Amino acid sequence: MGILSDLLSALLPFCCHVCSEPTSFGEVLCGSCNDRLCQAINEPVPVNDTVCDFPVYTLSEYDSFVAEVIRLIKYRPSRKLACYIEKTVLSRNLLQNKFAGDFIFIPVPMHPSRESQRGFNQAEIFAEIFARSLGSNFSPALRRVLATVPQASCNEKQRLENLKGAIDMQPGLQKSCFRGRNLVLVDDVATTGTTLQKCHEQLQSLEPASIKALVVSHSFRKTPAVAKI
Ligand SMILES: [Zn+2]
Repeated sequence: MGILSDLLSALLPFCCHVCSEPTSFGEVLCGSCNDRLCQAINEPVPVNDTVCDFPVYTLSEYDSFVAEVIRLIKYRPSRKLACYIEKTVLSRNLLQNKFAGDFIFIPVPMHPSRESQRGFNQAEIFAEIFARSLGSNFSPALRRVLATVPQASCNEKQRLENLKGAIDMQPGLQKSCFRGRNLVLVDDVATTGTTLQKCHEQLQSLEPASIKALVVSHSFRKTPAVAKI
């Protein structure tokens, strides 16, 4: 396999999606970008500068290399990226301290038209990985009923308007399975927090014991300092 993969790498050169350096056969990140990604991912820490009125945790710090990688691969969909992150989360038991116990991991939903365009919902892949790593439950309890424009391209006012009626519960959901349980909303990158907040509003109707969010990375905008005259 070693010789075959060397031969294939020579015949079909692969490039790192981030820095364009050559990679080995089938890889989307070069060794050094993979190392940077693994180093940037750590135990979940709370994020304070969000619009959410419930706890939000992130596996990587504000505007880190991870956010750059995930944003980039959003436009070049690859399950491989999730594999790198899964390996890091599993090998270092990153979720054990804050998320071990009776949790149900629920992905932020993607509209079916966008999902079929990309081939998968990255948030769903991460929610499954997190649940599997802890032996917890996974449930795609939410769905997107409206195809909205990306939140990142809206201003503060448009963001709330944009998501009005866009997120709903999956039809036929057994609501009693969620009552009194601890829910974790999962997203790959949280840009504004408004989507998480809208999902949270829906999940509250299930009467859970608690709701938290866990994102791989975030790009919440820091509150700008007020200029003093
Ligand atoms: Zn690279």
